[in-house]
Amino acid sequence: MIGILGGTFDPIHFGHLRPALEVQQHLGLERVHFVPCHVPPHRASPGTSGEDRLAMVERAVAGVEGFVADRRELDRTGPSYTVDTLLTFRRELGDDVPLVLIMGMDAFAGLSSWHRWETLFELAHVAVSHRPGSPASQDLGDGPGGAVTDDPAVLRASPAGRVYFQPVTQLDISATAIRAQLREGASPRFLLPGAVERYIQERGLYRSAAGNPTT
Ligand code: ATP
Repeated sequence: MIGILGGTFDPIHFGHLRPALEVQQHLGLERVHFVPCHVPPHRASPGTSGEDRLAMVERAVAGVEGFVADRRELDRTGPSYTVDTLLTFRRELGDDVPLVLIMGMDAFAGLSSWHRWETLFELAHVAVSHRPGSPASQDLGDGPGGAVTDDPAVLRASPAGRVYFQPVTQLDISATAIRAQLREGASPRFLLPGAVERYIQERGLYRSAAGNPTT
């Protein structure tokens, strides 16, 4: 079973990494692919290049068993639709391997606005990382193909089509807040891996609003 976590990763931080690890461990995922998007469909393009965002992901996952930095969306033109990304996984891995698309509750809440969202459930399961104890929204879980299960064995038994809610340690970290701190000259230490912090310093990323047209 393979996990996929897409995002802008501008920059990647522990709020991405820790929930991904907890989902990986609970579901027994062989790998988790971190896929930085090229052109996000739902928001302004990141101020940081795809190559820099990928380089930060590479540094964040270096030496972490089963974590993979995946550049597949950076080489595609046009909006980075998740459905297209899942199709590339299917072409590589075939129809039978269970795929698990991992996302936070915020992303899941907006899922019905995603391009061809019903098709996502034909291609993958969805694992939603959420706050322990919070009521897991089941609105979409009962939608097309998206029947909710709380049993990892059910995910393993089929390639796609289930929704799984995973309580994870809450880390109130956002890339937006990290970028704002860096612009003010504050340290992002302990919000993201040291290797990512060093890359940001070496490349002079997020230093001023002028260098980052989007916040
Ligand atoms: P930004 O602040 O620029 O919007 P972000 O920190 O929210 O960025 P994204 O790259 O947009 O990060 O998020 C990618 C995925 O990671 C989404 O599915 C989102 O729900 C999840 N995510 C982001 N931050 C956290 C966090 N602190 N805890 C759990 N999940 C998170």
